[in-house]
Amino acid sequence: MKLYIKALLISIITMLCLAEELRSQTIRCGVESYTPEEVLQIEELLNEWLEKGNMIIGPQIVYIPIVVHVIRYDNGSADVSDQQINDQIDAINTGFANTNFRFRLYSTQRINNTFWTTNTFGSLAENDMKAALSLDPDYFLNLYICDLPGILGYARFPWENIAKHLQGVVVSYKTLPGGSLVDYNEGDTGTHEIGHFCGLYHTFQNGCNEPGDAVEDTPFQLSATVGCPSSRNSCPQPGDDPIHNFMDYSSDPCLDHFTQGQFNRMKHIMSQYRSKMVTPLNITLNQKNSSSQPVGTLKLWESNDWSSDINSGTTLNLWAYSNYTFQGAQQIISNEKYNVWKKGDEIITDIINHHTFLLMPTDVSLTSQFDITKSNVVINNTTESSAIIAGNLKFKDPWLIDYADPLFGNSVRNRGMKESGPDKLEFKERSSPFYPDYTTNYNGDVYKGVFLDQDYLDPNKPYYSVQAIYPQTCTLAQTNREHTFYFQNWSANTVNGVPGAVFQNANSPTTGVVFKKEGAVVSANMKGTQLSSQSEAFKHNGQNKIVRISGNQGIMYQVYESMGNLGYKNDMLRKKVVIESGCDSNLCS
Ligand SMILES: [Zn+2]
Repeated sequence: MKLYIKALLISIITMLCLAEELRSQTIRCGVESYTPEEVLQIEELLNEWLEKGNMIIGPQIVYIPIVVHVIRYDNGSADVSDQQINDQIDAINTGFANTNFRFRLYSTQRINNTFWTTNTFGSLAENDMKAALSLDPDYFLNLYICDLPGILGYARFPWENIAKHLQGVVVSYKTLPGGSLVDYNEGDTGTHEIGHFCGLYHTFQNGCNEPGDAVEDTPFQLSATVGCPSSRNSCPQPGDDPIHNFMDYSSDPCLDHFTQGQFNRMKHIMSQYRSKMVTPLNITLNQKNSSSQPVGTLKLWESNDWSSDINSGTTLNLWAYSNYTFQGAQQIISNEKYNVWKKGDEIITDIINHHTFLLMPTDVSLTSQFDITKSNVVINNTTESSAIIAGNLKFKDPWLIDYADPLFGNSVRNRGMKESGPDKLEFKERSSPFYPDYTTNYNGDVYKGVFLDQDYLDPNKPYYSVQAIYPQTCTLAQTNREHTFYFQNWSANTVNGVPGAVFQNANSPTTGVVFKKEGAVVSANMKGTQLSSQSEAFKHNGQNKIVRISGNQGIMYQVYESMGNLGYKNDMLRKKVVIESGCDSNLCS
């Protein structure tokens, strides 16, 4: 008899709820329903688990990555904008502001599927959609944005005995901020459903009966609230109905908080059922020299600034599927400097320091790898007679720290091998001889030495490049005159019997260069017009003669005989003139 009355009461309450929902014509939510006995059973499991001391979530912030799946009709309708998605994430984080949970948008995909977008709780469409689209539910909150028929959203409780891919939250696209559902378009449906996802019941769970919603600081509540009344008190127990609580059914402008008790319950349930999602990774941050010894300190970009110095070997609690940007030390330490980042043993071929890492569950360490940098390398212009001439040349150094990165507070960094964008790596013009050493300052640029053996043959590896400038006019000490010089080739000195440097293409004005030895001298060999170190050029029976005619500004002419004709050129004309007979006015006056 007692049971019968209880069943009758429950059905009356249910009918009342449905009546209220129908009046509002807005069914907020369609989660799994539970009897008081089932709620108590779930509580019992939780308490047993807590007694074992398994609690994972401490005082730290827990970052949960959200994967958004926008399911549109076959014709592409029922779409939402990226701005709406960002606003939805903001709304969720605002709702959870007094908890330690924070949500980050990991990725967004849009799918056209009429069958899926009109799915309902427990339907074949729900199963098909989630089986096809869900991303690892152990780590991600999968958020499906659909056009649910007659309902604003539903979620899966963490303890539900269902296939893993079914976990996640589904909301109507009309409920996103800026959506079409007046009074329900501030994104609070998403917040409400994530409350379920984290283990919260409705505040009116079990009506005025124990155990209610299994949260101590939410007063008992007979049924869902409709709209936004000024106040409501539907149960004899103390306290007004929590009509502003996200887990009630009030309209969006009415909802504004979770309670501390709800947050505690979410921490417990998430630790119990979604442990991977709420457990940070332990990532060891290293900075090592060429002998694998720790060296210097590093920084982490957080809250729009670089952190204080972090010692090499420090283990940090970081979140899977989140991005973190680190910067290795930028100075020379014991003749070594930053060369490359490593993730575990994997070398990050983009050598930009700082580097942004997307952490995976399997990651354990990040290392800023130092290497020996050589200070005594010279790059210059020379003539064939090995005279160092002045003039300019160009050098490209992927490790030169000269780019103020606006994404990171305009802190300066190197450019790596970037081929486009504002931080594109470009040649910089330097005067010959040029010293990319530890200290020489070229208008603020200090090269801090060069690495040896940076191989241009591997397309994934960074390397240095040189570029000759030609023609260029320089004054030569031997003649005390200006001469125009043309590029001939690149060469390097010999150090201990081997080339100090090798070139990708020594005959090209622009070439990759690999420094092989300290003390390397890299030379752009320049050929001056009307200059030769070869005695053959001046032999009396040579084909060419150099003559200087007095009275004509002392200009030198190169006179030659070819195929029975006489010709000449001078360093002003820089072209040949053929004299078939007689005397040219340039020569004879
Ligand atoms: Zn709900």
